[in-house]
Amino acid sequence: MHRKIAIEEHYVLPSMKDQMPTTPFWHDDYSRDVRERMADTGEVRIREMDEAGVERMVLSLGGTGVQDELDVDRAVQRARASNDALAAIVAGRPDRYSAFATLPMQDPEAAAVELERTVRDHGFKGALVNGYTSIGSLDTPAYYDEPRFLPFWQRLEALNVPFYLHPRNPLPNQMRVYEGRRELIGAAWSFAVDTGTHALRLITSGLFDRCPRATVVIGHMGELLPFAISRLEARVRHAKAVKLEKKPSDYLRTNFYATTSGNFHTPSLVATIEQMGADRVMFAVDYPFERLQDGSSWLDTAAISDADRLKISQTNAKRLLGL
Ligand code: ZN
Repeated sequence: MHRKIAIEEHYVLPSMKDQMPTTPFWHDDYSRDVRERMADTGEVRIREMDEAGVERMVLSLGGTGVQDELDVDRAVQRARASNDALAAIVAGRPDRYSAFATLPMQDPEAAAVELERTVRDHGFKGALVNGYTSIGSLDTPAYYDEPRFLPFWQRLEALNVPFYLHPRNPLPNQMRVYEGRRELIGAAWSFAVDTGTHALRLITSGLFDRCPRATVVIGHMGELLPFAISRLEARVRHAKAVKLEKKPSDYLRTNFYATTSGNFHTPSLVATIEQMGADRVMFAVDYPFERLQDGSSWLDTAAISDADRLKISQTNAKRLLGL
């Protein structure tokens, strides 16, 4: 068993626990359990880490973070306050915790400034952003391939830290496909489709030709992309608007990392290693939605080589995050 670094692990401050959005179609006891563990960064979490052989967690703000804050100034303030509170948590257990910043992408310049501040002053390892950001209304999203985000990506590239593109619930005005089947919203299905699509927007926009050293992390075994990239690639070569220096699958290998969060499935892991390379896959659990022990014992026994297991358990994360 290798000691593990788990990099998509969420928290909220105890004061935020009761404001967390509810998921009415979950069983009540599961909802209660998630809420309690999300707000704990003390004894309970550390004990679970010890039991599961998780040496370090990279913490990130759960829920939608500040991505749904419609007031831009308040988004900037909330991100700062939440990052400062997270820095204090990490400072209390620097041997067990690291952090990803939450960013007010409503204002790309402010987001770049906040990223730089948290990396420089707090030693944060990068950022985790919960999907698209709402601009003016919950039905008006910004996606990060849009030209106004280019200076943000250039700053991220200069800081040499990764951007974790984490899921968020679908736009309220795009819920028709889930009508009557709400159980498909969220981690069960919509997260992967939406986040995979957002990641593809980054690729086909040519962002990585402009910022060749920008690094994006996607969770849940690559949000379906390792399985979908071949067909996408075969089709977009016929699209007049797509002008890329490399093949879409090349960017997946050079600008992306995938994590195992919430997807402890060996055939999917093997396919992801095959498509992206064993140097591009990292361990994550998606605490507190999943159990640390489930993810950890699965990776310990998955039918992959021990060399790959070591890379996924810790070496890749250490290299990428400078741990
Ligand atoms: Zn997550």
